[in-house]
Amino acid sequence: MTAPRTLVEKIWADHEIRDFGNGYSLLHVDRNVMHDLLGALVFEPLDRMGRKLPFPNQHLISMDHGVDTDPGRGDETKIPGGKEGVQGLRRKGKEYGIENYDIGDVRQGIVHVVAPEQGFVLPGQTLVCGDSHTTTIGGMGALAWGLGLTEIEHVLATQTVTVEKPKHMRIWFDGKVNPGVTPKDMILHVIGKIGAKAGNGYAVEYAGPAIRSMPVEGRLTICNMAIEMAVRFGIIQGDEVTAEYLKGRPFAPKGALWDQALAYWRTLGSDDGAKWDREVQIDCSAITPSITWGTSPQDVVAVDGLVPDPAKAESADRRAYIERALKYSGLEGGKPIAGNKIDVAFIGSCTNARLSDLRRAAAILKGKKKAAHVTAWVVPGSGLVKRDAEAEGLDRIFKDAGFEWREPGCSMCVALGGDKFPPGSRAISSTNRNFENRQGPGVRTHLASPEMVAAAAIAGAITDVRKVL
Ligand code: SF4
Repeated sequence: MTAPRTLVEKIWADHEIRDFGNGYSLLHVDRNVMHDLLGALVFEPLDRMGRKLPFPNQHLISMDHGVDTDPGRGDETKIPGGKEGVQGLRRKGKEYGIENYDIGDVRQGIVHVVAPEQGFVLPGQTLVCGDSHTTTIGGMGALAWGLGLTEIEHVLATQTVTVEKPKHMRIWFDGKVNPGVTPKDMILHVIGKIGAKAGNGYAVEYAGPAIRSMPVEGRLTICNMAIEMAVRFGIIQGDEVTAEYLKGRPFAPKGALWDQALAYWRTLGSDDGAKWDREVQIDCSAITPSITWGTSPQDVVAVDGLVPDPAKAESADRRAYIERALKYSGLEGGKPIAGNKIDVAFIGSCTNARLSDLRRAAAILKGKKKAAHVTAWVVPGSGLVKRDAEAEGLDRIFKDAGFEWREPGCSMCVALGGDKFPPGSRAISSTNRNFENRQGPGVRTHLASPEMVAAAAIAGAITDVRKVL
């Protein structure tokens, strides 16, 4: 009889071609998603060796990182090299027979929004992409992780890749989720609690009643930020909620294959008695709407809390850490985070730019106006999100509130395309990284839920979303 196994161990075993015996395995890769930053370069070894792709239909391209999101944008990007990336990948996609959601295609969008939306990933599969936030896809019950360039070349040539075996952590979410608390607040709370390096070497399974009752889009938000605690794999078991989400999507199995897939997915849950190297318990009733104050996603504070005071730090190292982060963020230690004036409000990214995110933000903004001094943008995660939001009239709500309604792409999550915020501005953002200069030179980023971004845009300052719910 097989010993009890975790969900990750089961998917691993089903994809393992060889165990090298040194902590590494060669795994079969079911799906690979590529974006414009890879350009033509990633195909160079295949070109040189005159090889073909063994399984072209297991790969998908979507242009997202460097594309402009200006309303009425042209076909290309404005950044030097950006155009080259788009044109190179477009050319290679055609040559190698890979489906490409190009600029102008309604299916184009951020890779981690597009893959679930198309049903291009299913529970129990392995999916890779040349982007660290590929952990997002773990929200579909798949084993998904980011790769470097040479690893992607290997996947293109062989549909396999070598991966280090992880340790196993389970984060269990229990207790009642308070009003105003979203999946974004839950994951920020976890990272704030256990730290940005806590997941190093681990695969993390998010589980518990609060995860089971969460819609797929919330699960994708949770797994999106797994990487922000240094986790290689973040995952949530695929279940009836996942099946309901996937049914009828373009790449989802149909007919008898669908029934077979359902039966397989049901076998994948972590067994009772599976061995966890670390377990973390989260009491959801203790979570409040949260926001970051510093320059790491672990710098989290409740929105009604205080910015940490370096004078009260428990060690000299911690004091130096807080002082450095405050110097960049321009905040005063020991003072409330709420009330700090913002310059920019941004709703977008693979963390929080799906239809449900836009619906919740629009519900806060309906009939209201942003503060006059705030620049406010909405960048839908994909063309389909944009189309569906427009069909519901959400674009009208955002525009009436003074937001710019833009085209899909990564945009100011990473500030690689032509999109820019004024240097040094203070941004509240539904994205996933608040590193120094991540959103442009000197831009000071506060990570929060789309609802918190909407509430701050109206108030012109960081504000407790519960006051406007
Ligand atoms: S939205 Fe941001 S985190 Fe997501 S894929 Fe694009 S750049 Fe990466």
